[in-house]
Amino acid sequence: MAAPLLFIFGTSSMNTAAFSDDKAALRSDMLRKRKDLRVSNINALDDLAKQVIKALSGLQDATVSGYVAIGDELDVSASLAALQEIGASIVLPVAGKSGEVLSFRPWCSGDELEKGRLSTYHPSAKTEAPDPDVLLVPLVAFDTQGYRLGFGGGYYDRTLSALREKKNIAAYGIGYDGQEVESIPREVHDAQLDGIITPTRIILSKP
Ligand code: ADP
Ligand code: MG
Repeated sequence: MAAPLLFIFGTSSMNTAAFSDDKAALRSDMLRKRKDLRVSNINALDDLAKQVIKALSGLQDATVSGYVAIGDELDVSASLAALQEIGASIVLPVAGKSGEVLSFRPWCSGDELEKGRLSTYHPSAKTEAPDPDVLLVPLVAFDTQGYRLGFGGGYYDRTLSALREKKNIAAYGIGYDGQEVESIPREVHDAQLDGIITPTRIILSKP
């Protein structure tokens, strides 16, 4: 009986390494693809805003976490402006040290931003915001089951799992249609999103 057990343990640790290799390879392919998608989808921002408003209809009073797009991430600025117009409160995430969860600061259009870790931007005023009800989550790639490949820091995985311990939240991945892949390599810590919003579609995840 010992041999099969060793085989099982060996396979499982090899799989963990294989998963991160698979993720790294997919991440580099999809980062290249996302660059082309940004260049060839100039109407994406406004189309996305319409889909975001549709997906969040009925959540006018919600506190929504957005993000300031970096690199070729799909820009949610038009979506945040539209959400603010219907009465939502916007917060932006602040990435702390590696291994920590995100914290949030309130943000209104025109508020000053500062550069944080990982080249992201967040409000410079150090006011802490309440935990968001809805999170718009940037991504490198997604699948239609609501799994996401991020930049590799695991910040959103940790944050979503911590928030879900405290309250009901809805987390939507935001990306170009062309960022869809058949299946994202899935590890136990990867948090499933409630859905994906693209400039043309709202894809709700099956639980
Ligand atoms: P991303 O989601 O940004 O693409 P990964 O899913 O590869 O990145 O996660 C990166 C690392 O973050 C993982 O290797 C893991 O060590 C860590 N991590 C993510 N979520 C958790 C969690 N809930 N608990 C502990 N570690 C986590
Ligand atoms: Mg992950």
